[in-house]
Amino acid sequence: MTVKVYDVPSEWANRAFLNDETYQAMYHRSVTDPDGFWGEQARRIDWFKPFTKVKNTSYDPHNVSIKWFEDGTTNVAHNCIDRHLSTRGDQVAIIWEGDDPKDDRKITYKELHAEVSRFANVLKARGVKKGDRVTIYLPMIPEAAVAMLACARIGAVHSVVFGGFSPDSLAGRIEDAKSSVVITADEGLRGGRKVPLKANADAAATRAGGVDTIVVVRRTNAAVPMQAGRDVYYDEIAKTVSADCPCEEMGAEDPLFILYTSGSTGRPKGVLHTTGGYLVYTSITHQYVFDYHDGDIYWCTADVGWVTGHSYIVYGPLANGATTLMFEGVPNYPSNSRFWEVIDKHKVNIFYTAPTAIRALMQAGDAPVKKTSRESLRLLGSVGEPINPEAWEWYHRVVGDDRCPIVDTWWQTETGGILITPLPGATKLKPGSATRPFFGVVPQIVDPAGNPLEGPCEGSLCIADSWPGQMRTVYGDHERFVQTYFSTYVGRYFTGDGCRRDEDGYYWITGRVDDVINVAGHRLGTAEVESALVAHPKVSEAAVVGYPHDIKGQGIYAYVTLMSGQQPSEELRAELVAWVRKEIGPIASPDVIQFAPGLPKTRSGKIMRRILRKIAENEFGNLGDTSTLADPTVVDDLVNNRQASQ
Ligand code: ATP
Ligand code: MG
Repeated sequence: MTVKVYDVPSEWANRAFLNDETYQAMYHRSVTDPDGFWGEQARRIDWFKPFTKVKNTSYDPHNVSIKWFEDGTTNVAHNCIDRHLSTRGDQVAIIWEGDDPKDDRKITYKELHAEVSRFANVLKARGVKKGDRVTIYLPMIPEAAVAMLACARIGAVHSVVFGGFSPDSLAGRIEDAKSSVVITADEGLRGGRKVPLKANADAAATRAGGVDTIVVVRRTNAAVPMQAGRDVYYDEIAKTVSADCPCEEMGAEDPLFILYTSGSTGRPKGVLHTTGGYLVYTSITHQYVFDYHDGDIYWCTADVGWVTGHSYIVYGPLANGATTLMFEGVPNYPSNSRFWEVIDKHKVNIFYTAPTAIRALMQAGDAPVKKTSRESLRLLGSVGEPINPEAWEWYHRVVGDDRCPIVDTWWQTETGGILITPLPGATKLKPGSATRPFFGVVPQIVDPAGNPLEGPCEGSLCIADSWPGQMRTVYGDHERFVQTYFSTYVGRYFTGDGCRRDEDGYYWITGRVDDVINVAGHRLGTAEVESALVAHPKVSEAAVVGYPHDIKGQGIYAYVTLMSGQQPSEELRAELVAWVRKEIGPIASPDVIQFAPGLPKTRSGKIMRRILRKIAENEFGNLGDTSTLADPTVVDDLVNNRQASQ
């Protein structure tokens, strides 16, 4: 396949902070003199007590220890709010767009300061102290950001649980974090439907053996049962506390939050991030990757329940004094034009979303996009999965009118911030490639024996050394941290992802290593076969897994969702097999194509291939943990169709 290359547009070369030359120079310095580079960059935040040590990290599996700026003290809420008050107190910090297009709100930095201080005092009034864990189970309303910052202000450790999770998932996370306070809402509102958050929190609290406090934010004003002594309405208790709350002095390595990974690969892990390094890293990446200048309107569509919401709705943007948009709803409510209408309404300049949303909107055709103007847009971003070139091109051409660069940002909950990404004024783009490493990041592609490969190659993606935003441990289980990330390839951080490096040194994520298929001795990334299938005009989505095959070792099993209006048929099946042969080669021909009206996805929209593997292997009784699936009935359909076809 020939790869198209997109040059940096001339207006970008003029406005951006960085061009290719400055990127190269800063990158070189960042990896040859990390102490010098990060010591300077750390001055982008205020320190109460300055640090004297910059980097103190070890990947030795007998002693994995990661510390940055360890003897400095600071506070994240101070940096995200208080220090902006003298220069931009009346600037809008958060634009909130409700589920209903008629609902919106603008919150200035001054108002955010008052609200966060008040919320912090509410937590204190309920006995929360520095180091205590607070579980936040809220919809996408401003109070979610306020509650996170309130925890940061007093040194409590937040654990945000996505509002779409079930009582069981919530209970597991409350228990694991040993959290005695839960913040929730009466109900959530998404796509016009109500979500019974308080009822879920009640059930979860019972299953977790009880909690001391549930703070309830009113969203829909539904009548919900309130347990005397335990449950309090936020608006009522807020009236009883002062709006003055000093920031707690925090060590750079004091915990800021725990966030459980989405579970596409197994039992969720409590990823722990700390204070100083995390904030420096989210601030620098937000500034350079999105080329954020004062006055820009920036919108990341993630939920605050995911790391993208933590780092790139709340902490990175607010540390930079940005205006960040928070959206309560979904991309297709009230219509498939919603994203683009919100962009026009609030004059959004920078838009950051996920491939799953792009593919879903692409399926609805160009018309819902084309009826909007989007002339404020300057930059587009993608995160969460490999973006297949077909979807990339559509995003670029239809959404961005061929005018806006796309930053395809590769990173993980564990990495705290973006690690591999284009910079819009510096990097030529290749659709489907996350391109080049960010400052301080040394990617290494290794063979199965752990030997680093040189030049163009393919293998497992590791990172050779630490960067400030890296997770510090798995909460309560340091051994699991060491086992998961530092023992497969000793001396390196193992990402779990497969990756290819091309002749220009560009990185192409090929999917998770577990998802690589070995067909008759050829290693194939599932992402590549999926991209070929999705490039067919009748296919909307595809998921590919390996299954045991007598002759080839592994065969290729493809689950295919068709565009609306298309009917499955034997002819289409043969056409798709021929199509993949032509696109990639005979080695990649799918052995089985199962047409599927829906694919099992995590609540963050990622395809759960481990379940699809089990179904392909006929292991229906052993599907593993499905509690984080968005729609468990999809699995029943797949199993029934699989059985019917045998
Ligand atoms: P779990 O670790 O619990 O299985 P998860 O890996 O889906 O869940 P995240 O940390 O949200 O949880 O996702 C990180 C993963 O998402 C990466 O390891 C990678 O597989 C994928 N990913 C994220 N961004 C990109 C991108 N731009 N290109 C390719 N893959 C990406
Ligand atoms: Mg992961």
